[in-house]
Amino acid sequence: MKKCPVCEKGNLKEGKVEEEMFGTSLGRYRAEICDRCGESFVDEETMRAIEQKARQLGIWGLAKKIKIVRSGNSLAIRIPADIARFLKLEEGKEMFLHPEGTTKLAIEII
Ligand SMILES: [Zn+2]
Repeated sequence: MKKCPVCEKGNLKEGKVEEEMFGTSLGRYRAEICDRCGESFVDEETMRAIEQKARQLGIWGLAKKIKIVRSGNSLAIRIPADIARFLKLEEGKEMFLHPEGTTKLAIEII
C-alpha cells in the first residue's frame, strides 16, 4: 500500500474528491486519499481535466497580485478587469469590506 507523502503515516486509498476553485465547484475527480490526514492527490491527467474545467468556467488565473495605491487620504486597490467581469462588478456597486484576521481582506458584494 502506498504511504501518504504528507503525513508519512496514513495509507493512500482510491476515492473521489470534490475540487473547487475560488468557491466554485469544478466537479468530482478520482484521487488517492490519505486515510489519516485526508490529503488528496490527483494524477497529471486529472490535473489537466481540472484545469480545463476551470478555464471553461472562466475562473482559471483569477488570483492576482495587485498593489495598493494612494487615493486622497485613503488607500485604493484596482480590481482587475477579468475579476470584475467574473463577479459582474460595475462602477457604483455597493460592497461590504471587512478584515478576516490580520492577513485577509474580504469584500462582499451586496
Ligand atoms: Zn496523510
